[in-house]
Amino acid sequence: MGYCTKCGAELKDGQSFCTQCGKPVNDISSNIPSNVNDDGGFLWGLLGFCVPVAGLILYLVWQTERPLSAKAAGKGALVSVILNVIFVIIYIIAMIALAASGAFIFEPGVGY
Ligand SMILES: [Zn+2]
Repeated sequence: MGYCTKCGAELKDGQSFCTQCGKPVNDISSNIPSNVNDDGGFLWGLLGFCVPVAGLILYLVWQTERPLSAKAAGKGALVSVILNVIFVIIYIIAMIALAASGAFIFEPGVGY
């Protein structure tokens, strides 16, 4: 389904000529440029995950040109950042726990 580029008449699927003006439909079929390699692939997500900064840049640069790839890269970057934040929080909690338990262990030794 599309519209004639010449007269704007509505066109049905499989229609090869516009019923209003007779313009061939062939050149209307691709409204979205198909020559762009917008696969939204897993690799872009992986890249975003491994290099969040690159993922973020690709997400911003490709938003209009390659929306699917941009989303994949951005999602990878986001997941990476979230995991990093979680890891840092766990690390800090572990350090606090370790410091707390360390204090308990070493306290009796003070009056040796
Ligand atoms: Zn037409």
